[in-house]
Amino acid sequence: MNGSVRFRGNIMGILDILKEIPLSAVLKERLTEQDKRMSALEAENKILKTENAVLKGQSITSQSQALDACPYCNQLAGILQERKRHELFGEAGVFTHFYQCSNCQKTYEKDKRT
Ligand SMILES: [Zn+2]
Repeated sequence: MNGSVRFRGNIMGILDILKEIPLSAVLKERLTEQDKRMSALEAENKILKTENAVLKGQSITSQSQALDACPYCNQLAGILQERKRHELFGEAGVFTHFYQCSNCQKTYEKDKRT
């Protein structure tokens, strides 16, 4: 009788240990999963940062492409304010571009076929 009680006690002890082992195994698995997710997110963040930098660069490039050479100060600083069909040659596809120079603040216009 005594032996079986001791044996039962041992089993309970083993069960307690077994209960803890899978739990920590699950926790470890979850932590590894979280780790993987974190590094995936970090990698994604890096990609997004790179993409963002590329897009910023592109918008700066397209802005500088839109800048016009100012006839007053000769700086590439004329910003297009308005574009209207030319009064006389609008039918021929001529547009009047109104610029303001961001350097000398003067306004001027240019006729273009765009
Ligand atoms: Zn200017």
